[in-house]
Amino acid sequence: MPDLDQILNRISSQMHDSDDWGEVAGYIPELADIDPAQFGIAVATAEGDLHAAGDAEIPFSVQSITKVFTLAIALGRAGDQLWQRVGREPSGRAFNSIVQLEQEQGRPRNPFINAGAIVTTDEVLGNRPPREALAEIVQFVRSAAGSDDIHINDAVAASETAFGNRNFALAHFLASCGNLKNPPALTLGTYFHHCALEMTVRELAMAGRFLVDAPGLPRLVSPTRIRRLNALMLTCGHYDGSGDFAYRVGLPGKSGVGGGILAIVPGRASIAVWSPGLNRYGNSQKGTEALARLARAMDWSVF
Ligand code: GLN
Repeated sequence: MPDLDQILNRISSQMHDSDDWGEVAGYIPELADIDPAQFGIAVATAEGDLHAAGDAEIPFSVQSITKVFTLAIALGRAGDQLWQRVGREPSGRAFNSIVQLEQEQGRPRNPFINAGAIVTTDEVLGNRPPREALAEIVQFVRSAAGSDDIHINDAVAASETAFGNRNFALAHFLASCGNLKNPPALTLGTYFHHCALEMTVRELAMAGRFLVDAPGLPRLVSPTRIRRLNALMLTCGHYDGSGDFAYRVGLPGKSGVGGGILAIVPGRASIAVWSPGLNRYGNSQKGTEALARLARAMDWSVF
């Protein structure tokens, strides 16, 4: 097996060769001032090792990456009934697009665009207080990561709530179609808070191990469900950039506007990258490039 530490160090230093870092997500004021010129990467292997390089100790806002965890929990609660409320098809549109929601009568295309994740959050919320649902989500992530030092950043959640007009529009439209069980503000409060979970790439790579399906790694969902979560990550995890990501990286992945990406090598490894500058699809620019290089160097692909 090639020397993973050497490869990660090489990729990490290569990321600083050009200044083309992309743009940070300015629509969440609390995230708008982050320096884009940062890069960290970590790999948790099926053998139980953790390798990291670059800015691997800086916690960042994982944002939409939590949609994988909330989907896993929502499926655990609702089973296949969940698919009556949300689809499983790539959207080909931006993560916060509203147009398809009207065309499809309030059933979002997939659980990884915002509208779909608002529905899965509503399912996880059930009819309990938001703090109980959030405690379950945080506990799920902590068990997956094997660390209790993972928290929600309340300032980021408050910042999104204050400037979240688009998500409020999506939630109210869902409600108008009868696809929310809770008042929009309650479901959205829960959504903004789980999006504001913070982790380092080390913690995120560890948390992703539940999607690898290898003996000795945390088993939080069944093997069949792991495959299905990975299938959705591959087809929908990068919004209208999902095809490009599959072409360049060849692995299931889920991005967030905080600049993180979680990618899975089934049976072998969980990879987390972070670089806050985004490409035009809202996915980490250098993070995607680094994953493409790592997959090639390690000969990792699902194809
Ligand atoms: N909380 C963010 C939003 O709703 C998540 C989006 C993302 O990471 N792509 O806009």
